[in-house]
Amino acid sequence: MDGDGGTSMVLRTGNDYIDSLRGRGLTAYYRGERVAEPVDHPVIGPSIRSVAATYDLAHSPDPGLRGLATAGAPGGVTINRFTHIHRSAEDLVRKIKLQRVLGRLTGACFQRCVGWDALNALYITTHETDAVLGTPYHERMRRFLAHVQAEDLVCQGAMTDVKGDRGARPGRQEDPDLYLRVVRRTADHIVVKGAKAHQTGALGSHEIIVMPTLALGPGEEAYAVSFAIPSTAKGLVFIVGRQSGDLRCLYDPPMDQGNARFGGHEALTVFDNVEVPMERVFLLGEVAFSGKLVERFAGFHRQSYGGCKAGVGDVLIGAAALAADYNGVAGASHVRDKLVEMIHLNETIYSCGLACSHEGRETASGAYLIDLLLANVCKQNVTRIPYEMARLAQDLAGGLVSTLPSARDLDNPETGELVLKYLKGVPGVATEDRMRVMRLIEHLTLGRGAVGYLPESLHGAGSPQAQRLVIGRQAPLEEYKRAARELAGISSRPRSGG
Ligand code: SF4
Ligand code: FE
Repeated sequence: MDGDGGTSMVLRTGNDYIDSLRGRGLTAYYRGERVAEPVDHPVIGPSIRSVAATYDLAHSPDPGLRGLATAGAPGGVTINRFTHIHRSAEDLVRKIKLQRVLGRLTGACFQRCVGWDALNALYITTHETDAVLGTPYHERMRRFLAHVQAEDLVCQGAMTDVKGDRGARPGRQEDPDLYLRVVRRTADHIVVKGAKAHQTGALGSHEIIVMPTLALGPGEEAYAVSFAIPSTAKGLVFIVGRQSGDLRCLYDPPMDQGNARFGGHEALTVFDNVEVPMERVFLLGEVAFSGKLVERFAGFHRQSYGGCKAGVGDVLIGAAALAADYNGVAGASHVRDKLVEMIHLNETIYSCGLACSHEGRETASGAYLIDLLLANVCKQNVTRIPYEMARLAQDLAGGLVSTLPSARDLDNPETGELVLKYLKGVPGVATEDRMRVMRLIEHLTLGRGAVGYLPESLHGAGSPQAQRLVIGRQAPLEEYKRAARELAGISSRPRSGG
């Protein structure tokens, strides 16, 4: 059973979701100005439409897609899969397939997976904490989950602290708030202070699930805190980051934006003495469990990238192939080979996402956890492959990706005809279509879309070194050595080490 049950469940549509965000009066800023209504904001609106796609897919006329986007909950009710606790390895595989479909549909980050990964990591870890320490966290977590499922909510998963001096532990920073911490505690609530960086989809979330950012030890209890809080809570401030090319949304025709419908956004989320009711606290000072929570959340999100980045990769491969068609070089053997290379690279990411899902195992809570070694290998590949894909797409498209005149030049009677005439590719393809595909490749590899496809692939869910640490820890090196010793006929154990 997932949540508590007993509440009537809803399966909202994209429009229901968008309506639910209106009039909340979030304290949010972008370029120094207050964002009155994120839904209507020209720069933030596309990212909210991406999240809406996760709701609309649950109502798809295609039963296969509907089945991917929904899941069964207790009492025979159907919920959106983005609020579901994975109950089998098959569920983990469906997650990756769903993310690939949505990545291809939006060509962007659809933002809802971070909170989903946080729900699953917390479900497993609260169960384990309670079993060892007799704490009341799992029941609280289940009640919170029931609320998220019944209302079909979007959760922001907040892990990454701002971290200040990277060489100093949380308690050793000049400013103690550079890692989010508990500053006050009473019988029925706690007060927290700090900030979480790079928060994907912050303004489109209903709830924020906070987790510690690293494994903690004795003396660091104030930082070992996990809880959920509505995005409207008093003391929360959202400062939206810049994306390269973001102002094209304000000043340019949709064609110059490359992908005007969908996008993503990230914010610095500040917790300025935010009060959290004890009922919503899932970890409070139990330092031994912070590392487990971090490792599981990161593992789930590293798995996620095997789906969503492969979906965006599909769009980039499609765009590169169209550019080759429009350039009249589709038949050249080196062009075909570069497309094959892109497909090979993209399917490598996807294969890793599927592999760590297939190897998922049941935990004591009943929820399934991915294979952590393979999930980290998946993410390690994601830190490299999209960059090579971007290079190949730019290679296939040609220099126009970075020098293309604006759609405004098409509208200008003095330049329009010239642009149409001199930027024509193969006969039978409109110049404007060729321009559109160049803009999409620019968007994904150099513009706003590159934020999600490139640096986010590198740093999201943990920078490359974080995966290498887990890979080093998870791999059964002693077993490998034993196998080698056996084959080489080595019977003696080495004097020291393994
Ligand atoms: Fe989901 Fe991918 Fe965005 Fe993470 S980066 S929230 S996995 S779409
Ligand atoms: Fe991400």
